[in-house]
Amino acid sequence: MAIPLLDLKQQYASIRDEVLRVTEEVYASQMFILGKRVDDFERDFAAYCQAPHAIGLSSGTDALLIALMVLDLAPGDEVIVPAYSFFATAGVVDRLRGVPVFVDVDLADYNLDPALLEARITPRTKAIIPVHLYGQTAPMDEINRIAARHGIAVIEDAAQAHGATWRGRRAGGLGDIGCFSFYPSKNLGALGDAGAVTTNRTDIAERIRSLSNHGRIPTLPDRHILQGHNHRLDALQAALLSVKLPHLDRWNRARTRIADRYREHFLDSAVDTIAISPAAVSSHHLAVVLVDDRDEVRHGLNSQGIRTGVHYAVPCHLQPAFAALQQAPMPVAELAADCILSLPIFPHMTTTQVDRVAAAIKALAQTRVPIGAAAASVATAISSSMVAASPLLEQPK
Ligand SMILES: *Cc1c(COP(=O)(O)O)cnc(C)c1O
Repeated sequence: MAIPLLDLKQQYASIRDEVLRVTEEVYASQMFILGKRVDDFERDFAAYCQAPHAIGLSSGTDALLIALMVLDLAPGDEVIVPAYSFFATAGVVDRLRGVPVFVDVDLADYNLDPALLEARITPRTKAIIPVHLYGQTAPMDEINRIAARHGIAVIEDAAQAHGATWRGRRAGGLGDIGCFSFYPSKNLGALGDAGAVTTNRTDIAERIRSLSNHGRIPTLPDRHILQGHNHRLDALQAALLSVKLPHLDRWNRARTRIADRYREHFLDSAVDTIAISPAAVSSHHLAVVLVDDRDEVRHGLNSQGIRTGVHYAVPCHLQPAFAALQQAPMPVAELAADCILSLPIFPHMTTTQVDRVAAAIKALAQTRVPIGAAAASVATAISSSMVAASPLLEQPK
């Protein structure tokens, strides 16, 4: 039997009656755009994220875009993004004619390396977008501290981190604005594209609500106050997400059990796992390992019916879309792109399946990833960035 990377058929079977009931209710109500379904989901999702506000949107990419729009990102403004993420994190900056400034990721957890952050801040820096990669929250203490010192906004890319926490607080409430995706494969997935932003700030919440609905405000429905657009969440998607939300913690616990079991299997093997910071509880969106000769290992697994993924084969700073930007080498992101492999993980995966995947990859991966060269360039980069960062501290903003 093949083992897919992700299989949501059993998840659907477990909620089918409710899904069909709310679908009929949306039809019967004839409220397809905004209204009670969207309001209810926004209220419940905000509470889930421990944030005062949530606004449903059309996708995670739109959430990131609108987060930058609400900060009035102007052409030429700089936004710091990790060199290793899904394209959208940096893509939205470019889309608004801002400049994505890449920072390499940390060799332990593959999240933005805070030791390299401050040296990349300039008077044009408007925001930092830490990504909670694979479901593990980025080191938010240091990121928030540096951002506050320079008066820069923090936008969490929490597209992979529904339910993840940092020091006990949920992703989405850890910065100024949190951006979520409900792409079908995410921990909380819609039946198509959907997303949301969360925020602690009422002024930002109101402006995002307006920007996502053609720049309207509720009291003047015929006036378009802001240069908005249509980024709304469908009522049907909101209704489906409301069915799934009460199950999310249980599904995340199932993912944790799978991730922990993989980790035990790989303890004394050539398969490297990703360190989890003691301050973070991961949502385990993906089960990612590092192996040498990744493509060969992947091929071997595939021939045994075990499907895997690569998140991501090309680091952001090397994407053809950013070819016009001058980019320094990002040794850790480039190492990750060569060695990273996503193993099957989904809430209804069985222990037998996990054990089969683990045994197969252990037999295929014979040598460990050579991290020496990347580790050495990180050490050099950190010591030179400390020198570069110190004069910036005195620079007036
Ligand atoms: C999925 C994802 C996005 C984009 O979300 P969409 O809903 O697909 O637009 C952005 N950033 C990260 C890190 C993601 O994983």
